[in-house]
Amino acid sequence: MTDEIMFERVALIGIGLINSSIARLMKRDGLAREIVIYSRRQSTLDKAMQLGLAERAESDLGAAVEAADLVVLGAPVGANAAIAEAIGPHLKPGAIVSDVGSVKSAVIRDVAPHLPAGVHLVPAHPVAGTEFSGPEAGFAELFENHWCILTPPEGCDAAALEKIAEFWRRAGSTVDIMDAAHHDKVLAITSHLPHLIAYNIVGTVADIELVTDREVVKYAAGGFSDFTRIAASDPEMWRDVFLNNQEAVLEMLGRFTEDLAALQRAIRWGDGEALEELFTRTRAIRRDLIEAKQV
Ligand code: NAP
Repeated sequence: MTDEIMFERVALIGIGLINSSIARLMKRDGLAREIVIYSRRQSTLDKAMQLGLAERAESDLGAAVEAADLVVLGAPVGANAAIAEAIGPHLKPGAIVSDVGSVKSAVIRDVAPHLPAGVHLVPAHPVAGTEFSGPEAGFAELFENHWCILTPPEGCDAAALEKIAEFWRRAGSTVDIMDAAHHDKVLAITSHLPHLIAYNIVGTVADIELVTDREVVKYAAGGFSDFTRIAASDPEMWRDVFLNNQEAVLEMLGRFTEDLAALQRAIRWGDGEALEELFTRTRAIRRDLIEAKQV
């Protein structure tokens, strides 16, 4: 499969759900000659090596990126600034630094200043995932039939951008290119706010003493269990998403609370028409998603 090789040496920084899925995909399709991994904890590196995800594990960031032609940052986004500072001096000229973070303006803000001239930053966000974490959670098919959004900073190298786009197409994704600030607004409403609502409702249920634990489990199928799946997502990852997309999330939260107040009023005044009209519109949105194969 050597004609399929896209990268000679790939360094995966963080080897959780997303980067371990990339490793599996690269191995399955022979996209990299050599994969080197770095993770914060030795136990994670050991697990990833047992799973056969890489040729080499490094506990030093500089050594991990040495001579790599592609570096993919796959830790929670709050860790990026320190990682970029540590890897900057060790990057080979012409290397591409990409990432998989769920927010994009903060990635450019935190990473770009640490990259030497001649190293190309191509931020990426595969819009695919599960509520599971760690190297065991990944699978090569994770990105198939999902979108991957690239947010090239101004002056981004065209060849590097195309190479990353080609990689994501080979992963089975459809590539979209947009400005980082726009990405952060779109994802604030489609992903970040739904997670915040799920975290909130599950927290509220947990705090209501009226409902015994036994009843919460017994009647969870009434809607609650769907929220618990989302609210089981990685705490560190989601902490960093909200801390690094503050402005857009707060803007969307403002809209959300206004609409929630309108619903509260409709219930108080017995305005069934308003309720039914909204629920009819939302049902149509679900149908659209099914047709677009996004559920
Ligand atoms: P994950 O499974 O929780 O794995 C995170 C990895 O990052 C682990 O290897 C962890 O190392 C390492 N890490 C954590 N904190 C670190 C730090 N301070 N410094 C260095 N390394 C650190 O995470 P994931 O779900 O793959 O998410 C990774 C990135 O993908 C995040 O930026 C997230 O926003 C983005 N993303 C996630 C999803 C999703 O559904 N999960 C979807 C799209 C994009 P140790 O295990 O060694 O501690």
